[in-house]
Amino acid sequence: MSARLIDGTAVAERLRQEAARRVAAFTTLTGLAPGLATVLVGDNPASEVYVRRKRRAASEAGFIDFHHHLSASSSPGDVAAVLDDLAQDERVSGILLQLPLPAGFDRHGLVDHIPVAKDVDGLTTGSQGLLARGRPGLRPCTAAGVIDLLDETGINLEGAAAVIVGRSELVGHPAAELLLARNATVTIAHSRTRDLAEVTARADVLIAAAGIPRLITAAHIKPGAAVIDVGIHRTDTGLVGDVRFEEVAEVAGWVTPVPGGVGPMTIARLLANTIQAAEAAHARTVQPDAPSSGQ
Ligand code: NAD
Repeated sequence: MSARLIDGTAVAERLRQEAARRVAAFTTLTGLAPGLATVLVGDNPASEVYVRRKRRAASEAGFIDFHHHLSASSSPGDVAAVLDDLAQDERVSGILLQLPLPAGFDRHGLVDHIPVAKDVDGLTTGSQGLLARGRPGLRPCTAAGVIDLLDETGINLEGAAAVIVGRSELVGHPAAELLLARNATVTIAHSRTRDLAEVTARADVLIAAAGIPRLITAAHIKPGAAVIDVGIHRTDTGLVGDVRFEEVAEVAGWVTPVPGGVGPMTIARLLANTIQAAEAAHARTVQPDAPSSGQ
């Protein structure tokens, strides 16, 4: 392997420790720890695992845990009512509605019950609008974690050719916006892209977020490129990403492993967003004209 490994576990650990330090300082300053509310609907086993991990990490960092688990038979109105209560609750700094929701729920309509100032997943229409306009706000956790990992390499993103494979609201699209904000020259490839390898082979920075196991081969890579693998797939032989790690690592300059790459960054960024939301809310109580987010 000639590529250098980007160690997401180590970067995430640093971010988590930094969040915990800020939580301790906030608690000392205000007399009350900030709170993270997680809302889970139905009984998707993977979602249950993700929410448990997020709650545990938040508790370890010193946040107060507010958790609501609604049954799959609850109505969209029930979910909206929980979100509206949390929106009003001053002890709650951040609200996360775990996705996907059960079939038949209007994801966009429900997510938008979360106030922008508490939108620690960065998925409301308001937060995505702020991102599109390049204004301060809470950014989607996985996409923000991708940028953290690129920063770890020391690569200059300004003017770099960045290709993102995938255009989802959760990952691909916000990652493209964040790279654009860093003055990269951004291309988004997706399921209708005609010749994927021809597009990706021009990338100095390649973000693989298609959700297809081992889609990206050595033939997709420009020699020396930084490759960030967002995909996570459970197989009989263990976890794999969207990237064929062993062959891509022979061509790329930098590459993230799966596991241990982007995965740990999502939770670390959630903690960072939640303390950011708490600090900004506190700043508004002290100085009412302060912007709605500290970023
Ligand atoms: P998604 O299914 O919502 O979006 C996938 C995107 O890939 C779509 O925009 C689609 O157009 C594009 N795509 C599909 N097939 C393609 C192809 N053959 N060529 C090019 N583009 C193609 O998925 P998502 O929510 O964005 O997640 C993507 C992957 O990232 C999944 O494997 C998911 O498990 C993983 N993920 C990881 C984390 C993490 O914390 N590491 C967080 C979120 C998602």
